[in-house]
Amino acid sequence: MLKGRRSSIAGFFLGMISAWLVAGGAYPGAVSEAGCPTLLSVQGWFPNSSILYETAGFTSEEQNEIHDAMEDWTANNTGWNCSNVSFSNNLFGPNYTMIAVDGFSNVDSSFGAASQPFQVNLGHIISEGTIFYWGAHTDTSPPIYLWNRNGSPDYYRCVLTTMLHEAGHSMGLSERPFLIVQGKL
Ligand SMILES: [Zn+2]
Repeated sequence: MLKGRRSSIAGFFLGMISAWLVAGGAYPGAVSEAGCPTLLSVQGWFPNSSILYETAGFTSEEQNEIHDAMEDWTANNTGWNCSNVSFSNNLFGPNYTMIAVDGFSNVDSSFGAASQPFQVNLGHIISEGTIFYWGAHTDTSPPIYLWNRNGSPDYYRCVLTTMLHEAGHSMGLSERPFLIVQGKL
């Protein structure tokens, strides 16, 4: 989760969770987490798995940042960390969906992005979603909007770093206590 200029694992997508439950899925319970747990209750993807991901709602430039982030994770996972989890863009039967919406989270309007496992088996993620809230804003008056989609290198770097961060949750990583996402958000 990306909240304001600070990242935390607090959130989830209520709408998508509801859809999941309505669809008959048995969600194992990690969704009830709120606040900033120090440990994720669900581990990441199974080791050695090949994860397919799809994106929706992004511009092509934003999409490129998503791809770069997932390539970075793949390089690290298959290069020197032990998970050996790889990610590839594939619209058919994806495990991981990244979507962008113009609105804001109904959990917390200041969430810039949030990730949530949708299906878990044996403590590992089977399917996951990350949502970017372009309309994220503070509750102050006037509100401060987190995202400034001005097409600047700074903006695209923020899309990249946010995706790197959110994908880290799908790898079972919790928040870094002092992580600050730099730049305009
Ligand atoms: Zn986070």
